[in-house]
Amino acid sequence: MARKAYEPGQVITWSPSRVNTFKKCSRMFHEEANLRTVPFVQSEPQLYGDRVHKMLDKRIKGEAELPIEEKHLEPLVLSLLNAPGRTMAEQKMTINAKFEPTGWFSDDAWCRIIVDVMKINGPHGFMGDWKTGKPNFDQYQLKLNAAIGFIFYPSLEQITTAYIWLKTKTLDPEVYHRSNYNRMWQELLQEPARMQECSNRNHWPERPGKHCGWCGVNKQQRCTSASEKYKGA
Ligand code: SF4
Repeated sequence: MARKAYEPGQVITWSPSRVNTFKKCSRMFHEEANLRTVPFVQSEPQLYGDRVHKMLDKRIKGEAELPIEEKHLEPLVLSLLNAPGRTMAEQKMTINAKFEPTGWFSDDAWCRIIVDVMKINGPHGFMGDWKTGKPNFDQYQLKLNAAIGFIFYPSLEQITTAYIWLKTKTLDPEVYHRSNYNRMWQELLQEPARMQECSNRNHWPERPGKHCGWCGVNKQQRCTSASEKYKGA
């Protein structure tokens, strides 16, 4: 089915990576996600990250062993598999604007996340996100994962979410409680509200910075606001 062309005022669907791009530059987000005027080209580190995610997904599901070059991750995988509770990999979760679960491709899909590895142990949940780059902490994705986890798993009272840094084999955990559910959403919805405001006004301001260096609009030489240092990069 052909994708519908963007119309000003339309409901903007979002995910942690979309929010991340929007925060850098709303025009870059608009051209990438809404207008699709720039091709999606994965960098080498992103391609490597995808390969490692697929290997770990298969290993967690018991479908394949880790290849020799990633065997060093086996103890980490075993520690997760052997921890108490049910283990799941690559959990896709989508909610609609009424904060209800819905399908990934449903017409009312509003926010989508993918949880790389998950454990459910009674009222306690764990949601881990593999990271292949250098450690750097952004709480947004962890909080969003937990908030959506509380919707999908009503029996969970506490969710620990963590970035799992594969280079250093370290975890950055955060613990969330269902009692803070409303406050979590108040914080999480600030950026999506700004995205929706841009759509309503059909105004997507440019915000130059080092991200101009990999921006597709800049590569096509269509942005007069691009940072001088990266113009036409
Ligand atoms: S070149 Fe820079 S300012 Fe212009 S759209 Fe891209 S990221 Fe934004």
